[in-house]
Formats: sequence, structure tokens, C-alpha cells
Amino acid sequence: MEASPPTRAQQEAVERLERSEARWLRLDALLRRLVTRLTYAADGRVAALDISLGNIRRQVRDAVDEPALEALLSELGEAIKALDEPLPSAAARGGAPDPHPFTESLSTGQVLLALVDRLRLDDDAVARLNALRDTILASADAATLAVQAEAVASLVNRHCRRIGEARAAAERLLKHVTEQLEELAVYLAREDMSHRDGESARDQLDHEVLGEITALEAHVAQAQELGALQVEVQQRLGAISGHLKTFRQREAAREREWQARTEQMGQRIRELERSAQAMEATLRHEQALASTDPLTGVANRLVFEQHMADACLRIAQGGGETALLVLDIDRFKEINDSFGHAAGDRALRIVAEQLRAGLRSDDLLARYGGEEFVVVLSGVGAEAAMRVAESLRKRIESLGFHGQQRPVRITLSCGVTVLRGDDSPDTAFERADSALYRAKRGGRNRSELL
Ligand code: GH3
Ligand code: MG
Ligand code: MG
Repeated sequence: MEASPPTRAQQEAVERLERSEARWLRLDALLRRLVTRLTYAADGRVAALDISLGNIRRQVRDAVDEPALEALLSELGEAIKALDEPLPSAAARGGAPDPHPFTESLSTGQVLLALVDRLRLDDDAVARLNALRDTILASADAATLAVQAEAVASLVNRHCRRIGEARAAAERLLKHVTEQLEELAVYLAREDMSHRDGESARDQLDHEVLGEITALEAHVAQAQELGALQVEVQQRLGAISGHLKTFRQREAAREREWQARTEQMGQRIRELERSAQAMEATLRHEQALASTDPLTGVANRLVFEQHMADACLRIAQGGGETALLVLDIDRFKEINDSFGHAAGDRALRIVAEQLRAGLRSDDLLARYGGEEFVVVLSGVGAEAAMRVAESLRKRIESLGFHGQQRPVRITLSCGVTVLRGDDSPDTAFERADSALYRAKRGGRNRSELL
């Protein structure tokens, strides 16, 4: 049976199907590329997910197998779900609980404690950190905690500043030493070259003299006539002495050059030594400046605070007694008003000088601010502290100050306290300050103990 030719409608239907198939093939290829790219984009997050993604890439490269794809889809779903699950906590992992889990339910005090625990400062600061930790534990209200937060911040700031200063000083010294080493390296390289010059000059001389002697030996061996031999010997000896002369001249020049260089180097080393000493002195001076009150030359408030923090720690650990004196010049404003600020400054310097002279070298005297000084006495109890306070007060009272050729009476009042086991620098200072206030109210020019 012969097939009848396709009708026009059939032909059109076949062409439509062919076009549609071609479009599907293009779409299929595009989708496969899209899937491959997407899998690469999600790669590298979790191992299980990476395996799934790799399997999908392999699948879409080859002819698609539907059941395999179904399985892949559910595997991918599992991997993605695992991504969304929170990480197991330390306890669930079977380990120790986190020391300070930061959750919203934590109190300010706990957060501060966590912060203090995480600080890694130097040995000096460890004692202060421990004291802070104790104070935070004992603090109940937000205002006290805010003060402790301030204290943590100032501790960290001071630590950072000290690190910065130490690093700058170390960098300066390092630069200095590097410069010295570079100079020495250049010097040694020159010396080495000069030594090699000397060696090659000697080699050359050996070579030349040996050459003359060999030639001479050959002539002697063949010599027929004495006269000619004498001439030859003389010529060769003349040449040898010429070589020696040149060698000596060169050696002498080298020696002179070497001496000049050694002299120059010695001078340079002396200069470097002088500049290193100057730099050391500058460093010492800078360190002293950082801890000294510029007007009176006694220690500044920073030194006092560090001293107090150490003293409180010592006492808390059962160390010996320590007393604190707060001294304030009476009616100092009137001195400024009557004689001017410069005269007031001079009076402050004299008072500081006299206080220093009235104390032992290991007692700390610092200017707390304005016309107020503080004294920390180690190994001193209440009675002895009052004796020191009174002797300082009398010393200032009996000084003969003068302003505009008239005698001026300057006195001071003193608050005294002895540090207690549970004191922080602030509580101890507040007590001494209250004692000072009592002395002021009691008529000034007196000492009070609290
Ligand atoms: P009180 O007996 O109550 O202590 O009276 P006071 O006048 O000493 O106290 P007040 O606090 O009223 O005044 C302190 C004065 O000290 C005011 C200020 O001008 C002065 N003063 C603070 N620092 C300096 C300083 O560095 N130089 C000079 N010349 N005066 C200063
Ligand atoms: Mg005063
Ligand atoms: Mg004052």
C-alpha cells in the first residue's frame, strides 16, 4: 500500500512540533546551566549541603533521571533545614557551660563582671581588676555600677595609654640601634674589602718576585759568561726591589687610609654613645613629667590613684596599716584675690616644698588638685597619722610668708583616716575628705580623724 503524501495541515503540525522541540532543548540547556551556577553560589557553607550540591551538578550534566532527582531534592531539603537550625549550646554539646553567656536576661552587674573577667591587662592592673570585681559584686544599685563601669573604662584607657607610650619608646630605641648596626655593617664591609685588597697585593708581590727568581734561575743555569750574568742578576734584583717598593708604598697608603677610617669610626661611635645617653635622659625626663605635677614638682593625681589602689589591695589581703591625709589650704582664694594668682602659685610651691621636707622619703605626697594635697603613709596607724598631720599643719602655720612686704598667715586643715579592709580608694578618700570638712567647720587650721 502506498502512503498518501502528507496534507498541508499535517506538514504544518510537524513543523510546529519541530520548532517547539528546539525551544524546549534550548530551555533545558539554559535551566541546567542556571542550576549549576546556583549550586556553586551556595557552596562552602556546610559539608552536607556541599555534597548535595555536588550530586545535583553531576545529575544535571547528564541525562536527567527523575527518581534520582526526587531523592536529590529531598536530600537538599534536609541539608537546607539543617542550615536553619541553631548551633548546639555548650551544655548540649556536652562541654562546660559558657562562663558568661550574654543573654538579654543578664543584669548590668553581670555584664560588667563578664567584661572584667575578659580583660587581659598587665600584672599591675590585675590587682585593680580583682578589687573592681569585688566592688561590682558588692554593688547593688545602677548608680554604683555606672561608677564601676567608669572605673573599668579608665583602667583600660590607662593601660592602652601605657602600652602606647612603651611602644613609642621601644620604637625610638629600636630605630637608634638599627642605625648604629647599619653603620657598623658598612664599616665592617669596608674593612673586609680592605683586608682582601691587602691579600691580593701580597699575592701579586709573591707572584712578581717568584717570576723574577725563576727567570734568574733559568739564566744562571744557562749562563756562559760572568759579565752578562752579573748584569742579568742586577737587573732582576732591581726589578724585585722595585716591586717591593711599590708594595710598601701601597701598604703604607692602605695603612693610612685604615687609620683615618678607624679614627673616623671611633669618633662616630663616641657621637652615637653621646646621643644614646641624651635619648635615655630624655626618656627618663618624659617619664618623670608624666607622673609629676608641673607647678609644684610633687607627684600628680595619677600617681596618687595608683598608689591608693595598691594600698587598698594590700590592706584587703591583710597587709599592714596605711593612713591617708587630705590637706587643704585655708581661705586660699583670699590670697589669690589679695596678692594675685602668681603669688598664689608661689605660695603653693612653698607649701609643697615644706610638706615634702616634713615627710619621710617613702611617704607619698601628691597634689590632688587646686590647693589640695594628699599624703599616703605606709605602716602608720591612726595615732601616728594624726601626729604627722599636726606636725605638717604646724610647719605651714609657722612659716613666715610675705605679700607686698606684709606678713601673710597661711594655714591648712587636714582630714585623716586609716584604710580599712573593705575600703576602695574612693571610700577611703571620701572618709578623709569628710574629716577635712569637719576640720574646716571646726574653725580651720586643725586636723580631724575619721
Ligand atoms: P577653704 O578654707 O574653704 O578651703 O577656702 P578656699 O578659699 O581655700 O577654698 P575655695 O575652694 O573656695 O578656693 C580655692 C581657691 O584656690 C580658688 C582658686 O582660685 C585657687 N586655686 C586653685 N588652684 C590654683 C592654682 O593652681 N594656682 C593658684 N594661684 N590658685 C589656685
Ligand atoms: Mg582651701
Ligand atoms: Mg579646696
